[in-house]
Amino acid sequence: MQISVKTGSRTQMIDITAKVREVVAASGVKEGLVHVFSMHTTGAVTINENADPAVESDILSCINKVIPFDDGFRHMEGNSAAHIKVSLFGPSEIIPLEKGKMVLGTWQGIFFCEFDGPRTRRVNVKILPG
Ligand code: ZN
Repeated sequence: MQISVKTGSRTQMIDITAKVREVVAASGVKEGLVHVFSMHTTGAVTINENADPAVESDILSCINKVIPFDDGFRHMEGNSAAHIKVSLFGPSEIIPLEKGKMVLGTWQGIFFCEFDGPRTRRVNVKILPG
């Protein structure tokens, strides 16, 4: 099952936890693993705090400093910074599923990380019963 994520800026973290929960609920699966996978080379998936939005802006401002948009990169498309960020963050996360609910900590949320937006993105959610 794929979910669509519309991003609004060049770099952005969007909380997709509720959308993933909908897919899990619709599946009817109660026990197993939930695999959340970004189908892009310039957008990642990560799990982090979703209580204070300042965490998202701090993560983005730090990663944009560590990996500047322009640093003499050779890739003609001009978005090497985004490719590097995705390789650091990774394209996917796996969340345990117990009694029909994803096992997430109190402050944990699932984020799609836009690194070359704005765009409309696709995230694949696969539920592995077990
Ligand atoms: Zn590229």
